[in-house]
Amino acid sequence: MVFSFRAIQAFLKRFPVRDLWIPMRNCNLACCTQNINKAKQQERQNPVPVPSGVRQSPIDISTDDSVYDPQLKPLKISYDPSNCLLLRNNGYFFQVEFEDSKDSSVISSGPLKNQYRLKQFHFHWGSKSDRGSEHTVNNQVYPAELHLVHWNPVKCNNSGEAILSENGLAVVGVFLKLGKRHDSLQKLVDALPAVKHKDAAVDFFNFDPACMIPPCSDYWTYPGSLTAPPLTECVTWVIMKDPIEVSPDQLAMFRSLFYTSVGEKQKNMVDNYRPVQPLMKRTVYSTIPSFHNSV
Ligand SMILES: [Zn+2]
Repeated sequence: MVFSFRAIQAFLKRFPVRDLWIPMRNCNLACCTQNINKAKQQERQNPVPVPSGVRQSPIDISTDDSVYDPQLKPLKISYDPSNCLLLRNNGYFFQVEFEDSKDSSVISSGPLKNQYRLKQFHFHWGSKSDRGSEHTVNNQVYPAELHLVHWNPVKCNNSGEAILSENGLAVVGVFLKLGKRHDSLQKLVDALPAVKHKDAAVDFFNFDPACMIPPCSDYWTYPGSLTAPPLTECVTWVIMKDPIEVSPDQLAMFRSLFYTSVGEKQKNMVDNYRPVQPLMKRTVYSTIPSFHNSV
């Protein structure tokens, strides 16, 4: 999933993105270099609409403006820890990758019309705890945000195709706040020193990402985009209302990673988030009853 800066520039020259903030950091939700290359091939063969700025992500979620939809069901999450394969530093963040050739680690229900397969999860975080999350709630920022990236196997053949397809991806976002140590996450934190530098990857088995889903099933949902080039508007976002807690030591381990390869001047991997984008004409729906708005 590596985009060189030059490649991003070339992409944007070919497909100018008007009135958008173009991230200078190399950071994206897309899944791996192989899939990106496949996607680019497919894009050349079948040009798809490029971001026009009508449904970009992340956004600020205004609880007063979000609309309670009583038809929205809780998200169903069914992950098989044995699908967990690899931990990788891709030079933008670290991600944990999953076997996705079958419908064995999936989400469904909620705002989704069918099952979506888990491809990978990753985090965004700040250099300090007053920044880090991509989404915000009533302009409140969290120190970090988890993204669990799933793709639509009914509509697409693979995750590379999915990033070019409307409703191709479903990403579950979970805010992280500082508090008590997250015991189940520690297995992942303990593995991070093995992927300190860009392009480092190690086997990472038997991890259940469901341990990072908060107990309360309330969420907001809205149609959005990848948060980095190609910024395609392919994502159904599901943002969990409640944050999970991690300890300052655990977050410090995230910040101890490097954007840089072995031998390069070390640059700490921090502030790998995109600022919020205009809501435009979108409505954020929620499972949270409100006195103000409802469907
Ligand atoms: Zn992300």
